[in-house]
Amino acid sequence: MAFHVMLIPTLGCPSKCSYCWSSDEKSPVMNIETIKDVVKWLTDFRDDPVTFTFHGGEPLLAGADFYREALPLLAEGLDHMKPAFALQTNLWKMTPELAAILAEYDIPIGSSLDGPEELTDLQRGKGYYKKTMRGYEIARNAGLKVSFICTFTSHSIKYKEDIFNFFLENGLNLKLHPALPSIRSENPGKWALSPQEYGELLVYLLDKYLENMGRIEIMNIDHLCKCVFTNRGTVCTFVDCMGDTFAVGPDGSIYPCYRFVGLPEYVMGNVRDNPGREDLSRSDAWKLMFHFKEYVDQNCGECKYIKFCRGGCPYNAMAPTDCKIRGVDPHCIAYKRIFKEITDRWEKEFLGSGMEMFALQGGPKKDSKPGIMSLMLKRL
Ligand code: SF4
Ligand code: SF4
Repeated sequence: MAFHVMLIPTLGCPSKCSYCWSSDEKSPVMNIETIKDVVKWLTDFRDDPVTFTFHGGEPLLAGADFYREALPLLAEGLDHMKPAFALQTNLWKMTPELAAILAEYDIPIGSSLDGPEELTDLQRGKGYYKKTMRGYEIARNAGLKVSFICTFTSHSIKYKEDIFNFFLENGLNLKLHPALPSIRSENPGKWALSPQEYGELLVYLLDKYLENMGRIEIMNIDHLCKCVFTNRGTVCTFVDCMGDTFAVGPDGSIYPCYRFVGLPEYVMGNVRDNPGREDLSRSDAWKLMFHFKEYVDQNCGECKYIKFCRGGCPYNAMAPTDCKIRGVDPHCIAYKRIFKEITDRWEKEFLGSGMEMFALQGGPKKDSKPGIMSLMLKRL
């Protein structure tokens, strides 16, 4: 698994999305000294190539000067780790100055839109859509590649066709995300998508994707197909992320992933103390993450998808139960649904192509929709 360090310059965010679980108005903003500490920390930590993802909160709140200093510090200071960068932002604070700095490092950007303007603004707050699209134009003009995460909620699932068509017609690639129960909200389940609904949505989007091959990219579907084809996880949700992914919060605290940032019980150490792997492994958070791995080995042992699912995301599994391991990722139902669908179709196509070899009559097939194999073989 690749080594991934998420940098969270702040948990602050100018937006107020209804189902957000990761913003905190009073959050401080990371000081450039913390980036210097990150460089020192990682210099002897391990040698593998590293990807840094700036995440939040809203990472652009750190401002142009922060990135102007931070990027060369990381790129040159950790040259031996061949750093790659990515950034997840709502784009509201994007300026031509910031875009030019990010373009120098060819940083791919992930942003968020929930579909057409009305729906996005309903879920993410009035004016969200226009502010994001303004930033999108600036980023595109600077030559930056932008893709969008679309959060499906218990409300927006009713408009799944409109949402898919919106992304298709506007030439936007998408990664879908199911709204999770927010552990920081008074009504945690209000927007959450049930695992059953999420499973059906994945199957629906698989069909839409195949019908529209070459016109849109749905990244989750690509990865799910690749997982089945290669028999191993290709994204963090479907591998053992523990020990290979870390997040550094605004004050330099180290966590297992950006999703835990700001939750004191998940702090593993601080970059200013230059902790080695041994030191981090003594923290409760580290032990908890590895306990999850053992739990998956025991509880998913009989599951035929275990090699490329690995119990899903530990955050999804543990956050709602207050750091207790009471089950695997609740999206298990959805994962089983889509993995079965992909596997069944694959087997059918495989058998079908064998039968064709014996067929006496040729000619083009009536049903010209590409099969699942075309996604499995796609280069990611
Ligand atoms: S906790 Fe979940 S989101 Fe975070 S790295 Fe692990 S699988 Fe990915
Ligand atoms: S699909 Fe469910 S049972 Fe199977 S490995 Fe994933 S989480 Fe475990």
